Amino acid sequence: MEQRDVIIIGAGPAGLTAAIYTARANLKPLVFEGYQSGGQLMTTLEVENYPGFKNAITGPDLIAQMRSQAEKFGAEFITADITKVELSANKKIIWQENKKYYAKSVIISTGATANLLGLKNEKRLMGRGVSACATCDGFFFQDKVVCVAGGGDSAMEESIFLTRYASKVYIIHRRDKFRASKIMIQKAADNPKIEFIMDSVIDDILGDEHVTGVRLKNKKTSNISELSVDGVFMAIGHTPQTKLFKEQIEMDKNGYIITCIDKFQQSATSIPGVFACGDVQDPHYKQAITAAGKGCTAALDAEKYLEKN
Ligand SMILES: Cc1cc2nc3c(=O)[nH]c(=O)nc-3n(C[C@H](O)[C@H](O)[C@H](O)COP(=O)(O)OP(=O)(O)OC[C@H]3O[C@@H](n4cnc5c(N)ncnc54)[C@H](O)[C@@H]3O)c2cc1C
Repeated sequence: MEQRDVIIIGAGPAGLTAAIYTARANLKPLVFEGYQSGGQLMTTLEVENYPGFKNAITGPDLIAQMRSQAEKFGAEFITADITKVELSANKKIIWQENKKYYAKSVIISTGATANLLGLKNEKRLMGRGVSACATCDGFFFQDKVVCVAGGGDSAMEESIFLTRYASKVYIIHRRDKFRASKIMIQKAADNPKIEFIMDSVIDDILGDEHVTGVRLKNKKTSNISELSVDGVFMAIGHTPQTKLFKEQIEMDKNGYIITCIDKFQQSATSIPGVFACGDVQDPHYKQAITAAGKGCTAALDAEKYLEKN
């Protein structure tokens, strides 16, 4: 049975930054990077907003640099999903199938996944006109026509944000009423670049190399139509990857791990010695740089915890 000072679960920007810091602190972290190693950035063709890269870098290249930086300082990686955990103040056990690991401290950085519509062409055209992040990709749609799928506050917010770049933004919603707050709906309605398409779902995304349009189905009339767009933004929420920790760690109603329980240990969770960082505890910012920043915080918090205990 293996015992470690620090086990990190997840290796996107948050987990990899935690790995760099804990490895440099000689804590010899063991990182379970999961079968989706690298996390969400692995599907991104261009990252233009990560500091230090004047010219855009691809998501996989950025992740590869972070990973080799962590390895250089002694972080050890296992490419597998953790299947079970038993976490308490006194005992932290991590299972990878039948193999058991003991840890003095655990950093959770399992991220989140953007909810998608589940269409055949959605994954194929991801990064080629399909996006789940307006903040990340809006800039690539200067003077283009885009549509946003969703009906909540984030759909309104992302659409308004996209009007900074796009010449036209359609909001496509499956019902005749939005879920968003009145004030956000009004802001979107007042924006001359935004048009609402109600009672409609995206039935398919069109395009070979790049998005050229969407096929719409009217839910009331079953009428099928095509709309020419250059981009399709999904704004139908995110799902934090926290199933593994249910009923052990405190979470909010949407399943995000609650951190900042202690002002002086901002990544602390409800269990002493267990820290969380990145999209798994952040329903708001959801950026590579914020995830990396939180990874640093979690590593420093874990280091302090180990010193004290
Ligand atoms: C298409 C797309 C484009 C984006 N573009 C940008 C951009 O240009 N700029 C930007 O700043 N942000 C961008 N983002 C957002 C950014 O990718 C995320 O905010 C960031 O990746 C979050 O990092 P994270 O480390 O918290 O989690 P993630 O990147 O989600 O990584 C989670 C990690 O946890 C692992 N994991 C999950 N479950 C388990 C388990 N049971 N056991 C072991 N490991 C597990 C996964 O394998 C993965 O390694 C984009 C996101 C998407 C989806």
